[in-house]
Amino acid sequence: MTKNRYGLGRDIPADVARAVRQRDGFGCVVCGNAIIDYEHFAPEFKDAKEHNTDGIVLLCVMCHGLKTRGRLSSQSISDAMKSPKALQRGFSFGPFDVGSKHPELILGNVVARNVPVLLQIFGENVFCIREPEAKGGPFRISAFVSDRNGAPMMHIVDNEWRTRTSNWDVRVEGKRITINSNVRDIDLVLRSNPPHQLVFERFNMRHRGIAISSNAGQPTVFEMLDGRTLSTDGMDLDGCKIGVMLDKTGLSIGVGGGAVSIKSMSVGFSQPSGSVPRSNRPSSTASILPFKPRK
Ligand SMILES: [Zn+2]
Repeated sequence: MTKNRYGLGRDIPADVARAVRQRDGFGCVVCGNAIIDYEHFAPEFKDAKEHNTDGIVLLCVMCHGLKTRGRLSSQSISDAMKSPKALQRGFSFGPFDVGSKHPELILGNVVARNVPVLLQIFGENVFCIREPEAKGGPFRISAFVSDRNGAPMMHIVDNEWRTRTSNWDVRVEGKRITINSNVRDIDLVLRSNPPHQLVFERFNMRHRGIAISSNAGQPTVFEMLDGRTLSTDGMDLDGCKIGVMLDKTGLSIGVGGGAVSIKSMSVGFSQPSGSVPRSNRPSSTASILPFKPRK
């Protein structure tokens, strides 16, 4: 590890780095880009005796380079620190590199190939992939990802991802984006394997009342409004128009043809908070039919 003349190492303590991210809205203060470096600004790293949030600023690779080359002044950076770009816009952003081959989307244990709409809830496309705008151009991924309480957490619009500044913490490290709602609880881990694969490794989201979750090594679970749950250890979808469709009648898998292969699936009943106790519900074994194949 390189140390400066005061013996200060490059590694910024995790809590200091997080406080800087939260203050600057998880993006470069100048332009809002989420692919950032932590820049010792006042004083510069060579003169710094400690890692102090006040002296560190988020700068993207581009703006950092402009500063190093003298094309971005210290004055402009201190001005930007007073009103970071991401906070002004409500999100920080970054690109996904998507190629001209239909990308594969993996949502927990659900693998979708050649599926234009991976998840549709009450008619809204939550994860979808559109054809390239021009021949040879990239396929276009869009998604609306909410947190466990249903608040917007991240949007993907034609391969540009935008993480909301209202999140508690957003870390972009290597190919992963991690969003937490507090120190312990991870709401999203998203890994990109450019140019053909996007993996939602972990998530706890709620969209229009329907909860969907998958945590390391655990099944992917869909929980309907009435507490019915469906969990799977693995599902492969290929060539379906819609991979998973949820509406008021329940859940359909593999809509519009294509191939569906299911490793295991179980249906159950969870107890939504504030609901009628389970013992008071009518017996519903026969009526639990959240899963129906549909053509
Ligand atoms: Zn920037």
